[in-house]
Amino acid sequence: MSAIEKSPWLIHYDASSCNGCDIEVLACLTPMYDAERFGCIVTGDPKQADIFLITGSVNNLNIPVVKNIYEQMPEPKAVVAIGACAYSGGVFAECYNVQGGVAKVIPVDVYVPGCAAKPESILDGVVRAAQILAEKKKAMRKARRAARHAESPAQEAAK
Ligand code: SF4
Repeated sequence: MSAIEKSPWLIHYDASSCNGCDIEVLACLTPMYDAERFGCIVTGDPKQADIFLITGSVNNLNIPVVKNIYEQMPEPKAVVAIGACAYSGGVFAECYNVQGGVAKVIPVDVYVPGCAAKPESILDGVVRAAQILAEKKKAMRKARRAARHAESPAQEAAK
């Protein structure tokens, strides 16, 4: 059974900016670019999501929303920041309420360049995020096994 892996579930959020990158993300999720062919499923529920696709810059209003989505996602998880705005604030970096890129608020695993980011690059980012997710799952399993082995002598001594 351990050979069977769960499909990575994707959630997407447009933090702010011009929405151009978010439209490209939506294009990736349609049959035209077909992100599902990589075994992904789209969800609107952060509690079921493994990969967070985020576009746009973070600002005073959306920071709590970005944090809320991220914190509701179970471990392990991966974040893909899509487009120049998600990287640094992009052309909106100097706006009065913009705080910068997504990494100001949550850890980012993959950056997808572009303004707007191309669907092919976004798909690349999703595939990379799925690989990172698999690596994180493996590391978590290893850490759990190590913790179990470390517990055993102590439990033995307590008997
Ligand atoms: S990176 Fe460019 S296309 Fe994407 S949201 Fe920002 S301004 Fe729009």
